[in-house]
Amino acid sequence: MDDFLSDTVTKPTPGMRQAMAAAEVGDDVFGEDPTINALQERVAALFGHEATLFTPSGSMANQIALQSLLSPGDGLLCEYDAHILAYEAGAAAMFGGITTRTWSGEFSPGLIREAGYYHAPTRAIAVEQTHNVNAGAITPLSTLDQIHATGLPVHCDGARIWNAHVATGIPLATYGRLFTTISVCLSKGLGAPVGSLVIGGTELIGRARLIRKRLGGGMRQAGILAAAGLYALDHHIDRMAEDHERAGRLAEALKPWSRWGGTNIVYLDLEVDAPPVAEQALAMGVRVGATGPRTIRMITHLDVDDAAVDRAIDALRKVIPGAR
Ligand SMILES: *Cc1c(COP(=O)(O)O)cnc(C)c1O
Repeated sequence: MDDFLSDTVTKPTPGMRQAMAAAEVGDDVFGEDPTINALQERVAALFGHEATLFTPSGSMANQIALQSLLSPGDGLLCEYDAHILAYEAGAAAMFGGITTRTWSGEFSPGLIREAGYYHAPTRAIAVEQTHNVNAGAITPLSTLDQIHATGLPVHCDGARIWNAHVATGIPLATYGRLFTTISVCLSKGLGAPVGSLVIGGTELIGRARLIRKRLGGGMRQAGILAAAGLYALDHHIDRMAEDHERAGRLAEALKPWSRWGGTNIVYLDLEVDAPPVAEQALAMGVRVGATGPRTIRMITHLDVDDAAVDRAIDALRKVIPGAR
């Protein structure tokens, strides 16, 4: 089966498995896992920040970052369809006591609420780079600069910030300067089996460490997982350009339905119900996600090659009514 459901479906490569098997490990709750420490230092240096913290998932990394920045009753400004709000099962409200105020389309500083009698004061702003449900679109530096200029702490959900870096050539450290905290995923385009990191200043990451403990995210000999991440940073960043090229080819071939943000995600907005189209494609060996009643999402990654893209184009043209 050719699997375009998500970039999380990748399996560790033989080289990655070798690196995992050979990893030196220790008890990371005591800060004694040398491979975790190496990964945390490496990622901090990449983004030009003081510290980072390894976490079991991207959602936990995001929620730890938000709780490090905000106290119960504080307001967070983010996009209405941000992963941190719409796809993390209400965690910000439930565990952080965080109130969200959202925007759709263009960010405007006019949305910021001052402290006063009526409002939950805006204490942080969150952005998503790349933007998952906006077809992997890259938020331009001009917008990020505008958000940075508010002077409020800014969190970046950077699950796919690697893709933005590869697609634009903008250094990770340039992004790093614009954000107070960043979460990054090792298990999406980078192809590691598990793991994310929270990035920030020393004091903030100290707080993050306590919150991770509270959430049950402290792990022991997890250097085996960090080794996969280090391997991915060495071998799987530059190759993401291939994923983008393949997604672009899918988008071009599946016009007029396609939406493509320039990275590894393509959405198809159909005139018919999406689930039967996805089922028929699956019967032809191509798995795609029916993410809305008439919406299909396809993501390219390490485990789909040019031939898989050809087969997907062929299958979808057969099952979408009215395709050429
Ligand atoms: C996948 C994803 C995450 C993290 O997801 P987990 O499954 O918890 O690792 C966070 N933000 C975005 C935009 C994502 O696509």
